[in-house]
Amino acid sequence: MARTFNTIKRSLTREEKKQVVNSHKKYGIPLPDNHTYQSFMNTDIQDEFIIMKCCNCKNEEEVQADFIKAYLEHYPDQEYPEGICDKCKGRTIPLDIYNEENNK
Ligand SMILES: [Zn+2]
Repeated sequence: MARTFNTIKRSLTREEKKQVVNSHKKYGIPLPDNHTYQSFMNTDIQDEFIIMKCCNCKNEEEVQADFIKAYLEHYPDQEYPEGICDKCKGRTIPLDIYNEENNK
């Protein structure tokens, strides 16, 4: 049974907005809310993220909550998502799970 995790809501950075624009262009998908490239870059875009923490080097990284949702739909047997740390290639798990496991 998949669990729910604490999410943080924040504005996308300029870099992240560029990535969104690029992937929309690449796949020929219009930007949300009929935005043009210029208006999208000039608008405050909010998104939800889940913090993943590395069990090895304790590095934290933010992953889009939508991605985690899609992951858990794709792997319904998994209780929570696992990733690979950018820094050390260790195992990353949601911060909530990490804290639970380390407070036992
Ligand atoms: Zn790591």
